[in-house]
Order: sequence, then structure tokens, then C-alpha cells
Amino acid sequence: MHSIRVEQYGGSDQLLYKQVPKPTPKANEAIVKLHAIGVNFIDVYHRTGLYPLPLPFTLGQEGAGVVEEVGAEVQEVKVGDRVAFTGALGAYSEYHAVQAEKLVKLPEGISFEEGAAAMLQGMTAHYLAFALRALAKGDVALVHAAAGGVGLILIQLLKRLQVRVIGIVSTEAKAMLAKQAGADEVIITTQSDFETEAKRLTDGKGVQVVFDSVGKDTWEKSLNSLAMRGMMVSYGNASGAIPPFNPLMLSQKGSLFLTRPALHHYTATREELLTRATDIFRWVESGEVKLRIEHRFALKDARLAHEALEGRKTTGKILLLP
Ligand code: NDP
Repeated sequence: MHSIRVEQYGGSDQLLYKQVPKPTPKANEAIVKLHAIGVNFIDVYHRTGLYPLPLPFTLGQEGAGVVEEVGAEVQEVKVGDRVAFTGALGAYSEYHAVQAEKLVKLPEGISFEEGAAAMLQGMTAHYLAFALRALAKGDVALVHAAAGGVGLILIQLLKRLQVRVIGIVSTEAKAMLAKQAGADEVIITTQSDFETEAKRLTDGKGVQVVFDSVGKDTWEKSLNSLAMRGMMVSYGNASGAIPPFNPLMLSQKGSLFLTRPALHHYTATREELLTRATDIFRWVESGEVKLRIEHRFALKDARLAHEALEGRKTTGKILLLP
């Protein structure tokens, strides 16, 4: 079978399309024949070594397909089940041996593409909106990369809570998508300064929560956009890692809260994983949450997918098709 292997950290040219042996399942694993593979920004961090992994490895951690074989102890799924997963390294591949406890059965109305598009970014948006701080009508949220994979879903979930959402994007076209997803206002970074605009739009008060996935370039201005006792949710580093800082800064800027969460801590038990995945799939099935799958690449062209993602050329979800 073919997989995308990383043998050295580096640029997109380090994504190697290679023939490797098809896996056999350990006792707690299922072999999934992949129909769609999710591309996520974390794959870039793994490729560059920002989040280091032992080399060499097969990239990717999200996908959907059919269970082809199961290990002796597997209870969660059976051969022939349609499933999706996230958090299982090695997904840029034709087949993947996945720990069965990470597999979620796909409802009938959810396609493989939707399954691979919803697991990582959908459940991330779910915990960001519902698990960090009680948000409600009257609160204002600033959402960076609002037309991105997580961003478009997060806007829709925040609107379920009746939160006022201010999206931040880099282009007019992305602004339109953020508005369609439900953003009340959108700031275009190439046209205005987001800190100034966030203050202006809140009569100088600032926002209750900032969802910042950009990191280094936006960190300080995001903190400055918060209202007193607001919460900074730093959940990604698309522009690079945030430099060390003195926590006293949080006090000086208004007794701010800071969290730096990760999805696997919010899907830590099987029950929590199933709750978040079930909610997302139910809302996608009913049309209450819309997934935007605009970009599809052949597995062998993973390099092009990464270049598009890092080059800020994409909106919504990017999939690889084996
Ligand atoms: P996106 O689809 O959001 O793509 C990244 C977007 O970030 C770009 O389209 C761009 O939007 C914006 N961006 C701003 N600055 C840069 C830059 N210097 N280089 C590249 N992009 C930039 O990706 P994902 O939805 O996959 O992920 C979004 C973020 O969420 C990532 O940082 C990821 O690591 C994080 N994440 C964190 C999780 C967690 O649990 N902690 C889980 C899932 C994702 P624009 O052009 O509009 O500025």
C-alpha cells in the first residue's frame, strides 16, 4: 500500500509518497481501509518538527473508511462498519491500524468525506465553544482564522449559544464565508488593525473571549482585545510559537484568563469522544452545522495540500483521497 512518510523534518518536499507494508491489527486495533483523509494544521507542525515525533513516521491523524479486519480484543466495531477517527497518527495512507477505542461509527447520513472533515475540526470547535467557559447571549467572541477549518464550524457553534461573533480573516472572499457561517462582524486583517476594530465594535470595552489559532503574530493584540477578566484561548500557532512571557502581563491587562488547550484532553475518555462526535454528526446530518469541503487532493499530492494550507489559500476542510 502507499503512505505519505516523513523521514526528516522540513518543508512540504519532505512528504514522501512511499510503498510500505499493509498493517496487521494488534489485539486492540482495527484495520481501516481509508476512503477520505483529513488534512489539519497539526500535520504541518508534525512535518516541520514544531511538535516533534520520532522519525520516520507516517503523517496525518484523521480519516474515515471501512473496517476491514479487527484484533482479537476489539469490542467497539466489527468488519464492514463505516467509521471515522482522529488522534491516530499514520492516517495519510491507504490503510491504517487504529486503536478501536478511537473509532466512531458513522451515522447512515454521513459520508466518508463528511466523517473525515468533522472529527478533528468539529470536535475542536465543540470543546472550544462548550467546554472552556460558560458563554451566552451578551458575550462577544473574537475568532481568528474565521474562514478556516475550525473557524467556520466554531462560528456556527458560538451562534447556537447566541454569542456575538467577530471573525478575523485576511481577504474579502474569506470574510464572505465567515458571514455566511453566521459571524456578526468580520475584520479583514489586510485592511484594518484587529485590536483597534475589536475595541471599536465593543465601545472600547473589549471582548469576553478570543479564540486565537494564529499564535506568534497575533498573541499580544489578542490579549489587548479582551475585556477585563476575559479569556484568551490560545489553541494554535499557524504563524509560529508564542515567545515566553511574564504571567504578570495577564494581571496588568485586566486579570485575564489564559488557556492553551488540546483536543485529546477534551476527548480523553471514550464517553467524551462519543458525546462530542455524536453531537457534531447529528448537527451535520440535520443541516444545523454546515461543513465546507472545498479542497480535495489525491493522497500522492499531499505536498500540494500542505502548500495550499500554509499559503493561506484554503477555506474550510482539505481532504486527501487515497
Ligand atoms: P485553517 O483552515 O484555519 O488554516 C489556517 C488559517 O490560519 C489560514 O487559512 C489563515 O487564515 C490563518 N493564518 C494566519 N496566519 C497564518 C500564517 N502565518 N500561516 C498560515 N496560516 C495563517 O487550519 P485548521 O482549521 O486545520 O487549524 C486552525 C488552527 O487550529 C491551527 O493553528 C491548528 O493548529 C489549531 N488547532 C488546534 C487544536 C487544539 O485542540 N489545540 C485542534 C485543531 C486545530 P487567514 O488567511 O484568514 O488569516
